[in-house]
Amino acid sequence: MIYSRRRHALLSPPTNRANVRKFAKIIRAGLVLAAAAFTLAAVGPAEAQQAGQQQDLVVYLIDHQFVSDAEMATIQGEIGEIFQAEANVTIRWIMDDSPRRRLASNELRFLILASDGTRWFHGPSNVIGLAPHDDTGVGRNSFVFYRQALWFRQQAVLRCREATRARSQAAATGVTPDPSIDALAPPECGDHLTSLTPLVVARAAAHEMVHILLNKLDHSEGGLMRKSFDITEWLAGEQVSFRLLPEEITALQQLLQPATTAPGR
Ligand SMILES: [Zn+2]
Repeated sequence: MIYSRRRHALLSPPTNRANVRKFAKIIRAGLVLAAAAFTLAAVGPAEAQQAGQQQDLVVYLIDHQFVSDAEMATIQGEIGEIFQAEANVTIRWIMDDSPRRRLASNELRFLILASDGTRWFHGPSNVIGLAPHDDTGVGRNSFVFYRQALWFRQQAVLRCREATRARSQAAATGVTPDPSIDALAPPECGDHLTSLTPLVVARAAAHEMVHILLNKLDHSEGGLMRKSFDITEWLAGEQVSFRLLPEEITALQQLLQPATTAPGR
């Protein structure tokens, strides 16, 4: 699950007692399953390719939002970058189609939903992506709520505008701009607003995809798999905050290794 974060406060775990129990159960299950899944993953699926050649990651992309061609290109390009650039994982995209069978360990679905997700669960309303799944192979679905990505961008626009206005006011009156304005939004923030919605969708989707692929229910300290995305980082146009950590790359590569070269066989 990935949240957007507007202020400095960290999102806390669920406060409702039933949700806390459910949350704890999910975390416990995740710890147990993570080890089991790793053993299974190392064996590899039946359709593993030739020795020495990594399997493709197959993504069935179902777009309920009907995003524009330009946005779709940005979404696929960014997800491709995240998986390909360092992990050398090639994605095979299958558009608007999904097999009616249990998906293999190198397959998953990515659904762009038009709603904001709040009808789906009684949690915080700033959840951008969600990946309900378990180790039986059921529910290899990464959901991204497009309306939340739009909302996230809108917050960024407002921030950027506020900072820009404060800077020009300071310049007009010959006052040095307060340094705290940079924390709100850096001077070049406007450059990153155009592609922000599809980038939010792409990075939220990639985050959920890693949860599914690695059967990882917890979050990392930094990078793509951290708990929440902060708007300030997007306005600075940084890529490094949205990339995989070395241990995540290693785990992905092991997952997609052909069966013949898998360790422990
Ligand atoms: Zn998450």
